[in-house]
Amino acid sequence: MKIELLKQKIKKFPPRPGIYFFKNSQGEVIYIGKALSLKNRIKSYFLPNPDIKVQNILGETDDIDYLLVSSEKEASFLENNYIQFYQPKFNLRLKDDKSFPFLKITVKEKFPGIYLSRRVEDDGAKYFGPFSPAEEARKLITLIARSFGLRTCDNQVFKNRKRPCLEYDLKMCSAPCVGLVSENKYRDNLEEALLLLEGKKSHLLHQLREKMDQAAAELNFEEAARLRDIIRALESLKEIQRVISVGKENMDIVGYAHREGKAGIFIFHMREGRIRASSAKLVENPAQSSRRKIPAGQTTGQYTSSLPFKKR
Ligand code: SF4
Repeated sequence: MKIELLKQKIKKFPPRPGIYFFKNSQGEVIYIGKALSLKNRIKSYFLPNPDIKVQNILGETDDIDYLLVSSEKEASFLENNYIQFYQPKFNLRLKDDKSFPFLKITVKEKFPGIYLSRRVEDDGAKYFGPFSPAEEARKLITLIARSFGLRTCDNQVFKNRKRPCLEYDLKMCSAPCVGLVSENKYRDNLEEALLLLEGKKSHLLHQLREKMDQAAAELNFEEAARLRDIIRALESLKEIQRVISVGKENMDIVGYAHREGKAGIFIFHMREGRIRASSAKLVENPAQSSRRKIPAGQTTGQYTSSLPFKKR
């Protein structure tokens, strides 16, 4: 597609967050970027006197596609995944696996710990995230440790303690290493932390307020004050960002829309829990049988996922 045609095409791009794909005449992805406004960002490539990098990209570009996302942050995560997969020749940054951190809770252990993890593994732990910047994940670990007394030490340290470490003195851990908290109480605290991480903050706050009222009614003012502080800290916490995936799924996710004799089909290819690639297809005059159903012969039957499924 020539430059003038591309300029016409991008006029129709929405001013919304997304990632964009520059493709050459063979359909290969040669450059991937992210944008808060796709329209404005991509328009900027066509300004007069582009720098040498943009000149090189445009010199090989035959088409530009985009993918809408709900926020700039989500665009960053997906941009990373797509660059890892396509390895576009003009993306010098991010070609190495720059993985965003997750929060990991080792729920299978008697006294689970909470950690920062750069990868999601099949180890029975629960993972939440990804987070960007990593600082957000660190702050959340501190908040959770302080609010719910979960340990952050590794198992080697945990097994060999004879007395609590500084975390206990700083009221950042309930010291299960030396039995200063029962398994049941620790589990209760863990369940509350999980409510928060699973996005059920209002349910958790309701639960904590009830406990605070009860503690006050029983004249346990120290516990009531502790719960009040936790409630305040959680109230000021902004919503935990949406999870892309915490599993290791291999699947293809198909979206379908039908209007005025045309159907658009979009397929996301997820491998090991990450969106690795996507493909789109426009079908003229799809089967008229039902607007709500994907006409099997004209859509799913015509595509074959080219991405390998790894054995788990
Ligand atoms: S107090 Fe004990 S359990 Fe808590 S972090 Fe320190 S060593 Fe680990």
